[in-house]
Amino acid sequence: MLADIFDRPLRNLRISVTDRCNLRCGYCMPEEEYVWLPREDILSFEEIARLVDVFADLGVDKVRLTGGEPLLRKDLDRLVRMLGVAGRLRDLALTTNGVLLAEQASALRAAGLHRVTVSLDTLRPDRFKVLTRRDTHARVLEGIAAVGQLGWPGLKIDTVVIRGVNDDELADLIEYGRNVDGEVRFIEYMDVGGATTWSMDQVVSRREMLAVLERRYGPIESIAEAGSAPADRFRLADGTIFGVISSTTQPFCRACDRSRLTADGKWYLCLYATRGTDLGKALRAGVSREDLIRLITATWRQRSDRGAEQRLTLAQRRPLVQIGELKRDPHLEMHTRGG
Ligand code: SAM
Repeated sequence: MLADIFDRPLRNLRISVTDRCNLRCGYCMPEEEYVWLPREDILSFEEIARLVDVFADLGVDKVRLTGGEPLLRKDLDRLVRMLGVAGRLRDLALTTNGVLLAEQASALRAAGLHRVTVSLDTLRPDRFKVLTRRDTHARVLEGIAAVGQLGWPGLKIDTVVIRGVNDDELADLIEYGRNVDGEVRFIEYMDVGGATTWSMDQVVSRREMLAVLERRYGPIESIAEAGSAPADRFRLADGTIFGVISSTTQPFCRACDRSRLTADGKWYLCLYATRGTDLGKALRAGVSREDLIRLITATWRQRSDRGAEQRLTLAQRRPLVQIGELKRDPHLEMHTRGG
């Protein structure tokens, strides 16, 4: 099995299919305009499928489509079908903001998408509007409802918790998750990509979230799980399960088997990495399958990234990159490399 310097396998690939998004969340894409990836550099579905096939040879069996907003990519169901056809992926998932989900859910499911994660930071339409600078909260809820109507299992609801913004909604979101049969996962606010106004005092730690929920629901049981999933899962007394992704205060680099492919084919081995390997360029230069395998193998074997853990050791923590740098290199953006 292919493993990196810390013996971490290559198993999990997140593919950003576009750097465009139809929301402008203050912690991710606070600007209205960006330096977008040149259209001609965006990988075709055929190119993505070719890369996934090689990654599958090397051990990747979990793929998540993300972005930007992946549902902005035309005919995404066609890519899903192409990726699923060989039957090599144990898990083929999608992370979406849900705005376009109601109209695409049925086609995506029919194409073979295993499960959907919807990002939803608030249940309040007015708050959503402030947070995302768009008035499409109702459409997100319709998207989530559409998943339920299809009887599609595996729904997750991801919420970035930010102090003074939505940290008073934890219990409401748990209740909502129960109603829509989705597992809620609370994400600690991270100092990555477009989070140019991030500060530590806005981070609500996992410990704090659990304390809040314990006051409301009583004792919370931690679910012991092996593996590399970033969420630590918990169970309330009534059986409701939820997760917390504590990449800021309790990162999980030692178990990280994930890497990221941008929409133009740059391969990043860590969310915090500032440099990636240009697989898109290699593909377009006519690289052979064997050479691609060699390139990916050699790159992964040298992987020593522990980005989130290293951030934890900083005495003074500021956003990873400043707005000027982001404008110069869009690959540093969360919306380019996929969250
Ligand atoms: N547009 C899709 C969506 O909204 O789910 C996929 C891309 S988005 C970049 C993926 C995830 O990254 C979302 O759940 C988003 O909330 C999360 N994210 C973005 N910036 C973040 C930050 N600074 N800290 C924590 N999570 C963040």
